[in-house]
Amino acid sequence: MIKAYATFEPGGKLKPFEYDPGELNPLDVEIDVRYCGICHSDVSVIDNEWGMTQYPVVPGHEVVGTIAKVGSSVKHLQVGQTVGLGWHSGYCDECANCRAGDHNLCPDGQATIIGHHGGFADKVRAAANSVILIPKGIDLESAGPLFCGGITVFNPLVQFDVRPTDKVAVIGIGGLGHMALNFLNAWGCEVTAFTSSEHKRKEALELGAHHTLNSRDQKEIEGAAGHFDLIISTVNVKLDWNLYLNTLKAKGRLHFVGATLDPLDLSVFSLITGQRSVSGSPVGSPSTIEKMLEFASLHKIRPVIEKFNFDDINAAIERLRSGKAHYRIVLCR
Ligand code: NAP
Ligand code: ZN
Repeated sequence: MIKAYATFEPGGKLKPFEYDPGELNPLDVEIDVRYCGICHSDVSVIDNEWGMTQYPVVPGHEVVGTIAKVGSSVKHLQVGQTVGLGWHSGYCDECANCRAGDHNLCPDGQATIIGHHGGFADKVRAAANSVILIPKGIDLESAGPLFCGGITVFNPLVQFDVRPTDKVAVIGIGGLGHMALNFLNAWGCEVTAFTSSEHKRKEALELGAHHTLNSRDQKEIEGAAGHFDLIISTVNVKLDWNLYLNTLKAKGRLHFVGATLDPLDLSVFSLITGQRSVSGSPVGSPSTIEKMLEFASLHKIRPVIEKFNFDDINAAIERLRSGKAHYRIVLCR
């Protein structure tokens, strides 16, 4: 039996929950969970905010652990190896996107916490094709957040060939946003942090930002007109997106990774006259995750974490909900 924590209804507290995972599929592995980060998406799934939750839900998709069992057809992983698991716990490996290396765009990709039990548990299972070896030089305690939050903000730098001469802004300095500042600074860019929390301004500079602006202050945003090549939004709320569009240079891009539910209300003229783009992306492919880990190791990038014991999981979720998490909570045993 796997000992997990599950929620049984929208917004419900996590309660101890045991389940029998059955026989190990030949293409799967079982991971002993050592650490698991808490992403805002865990909260959105607990609350069924996206309408796709299947209860009981065992959240947790920023797993660091040790391989405990390998299925009979798994070739590249062995018992005892240290690995990470993120938003996806399996891909079809056959569709055009998987064959092109874009596994994170696989229409049949298995989400780790939707219709599958995740990492708030002593063990988690996943298809071997979604499990990533953690290279030496990565601090294990703080590595979990790289597997969802980290890859989500690293992937756009690869997808859009961001150059060191680019001016890039990050909106929202939370779990995702603080890692984005680290990555962009190491990438060589001029980095601006948009935050709604005045007290984060100083820390944003320490995390790698060169400038900070208030994400809800119209005057400050207007002052940055025509400045950015790329803006990455990590917030899950509606902001005045037309103000942000006007801070882009011609051919600039406003890129969404934060899952805001409100439809975008954008000025088409701002898009046309400046040939600007608006886009979004989910996490990143296994090979991009591997690239990110090498990059993080080389540049000594470590998520800033607060540690909670797995037994204090409800207090940890409450802290994330309150907006006080600094900057990512990681459950440890
Ligand atoms: P988080 O740690 O809670 O950070 C979100 C940040 O948004 C906050 O720290 C805050 O930054 C800002 N924010 C919150 N409420 C705000 C408000 N009312 N006005 C202005 N700013 C506000 O969350 P996270 O774990 O980083 O996740 C962020 C979003 O990304 C979530 O929607 C999550 O579901 C999504 N996500 C998407 C992917 C993907 O594949 N695309 C992957 C992971 C997560 P400041 O204090 O600096 O303002
Ligand atoms: Zn996540």
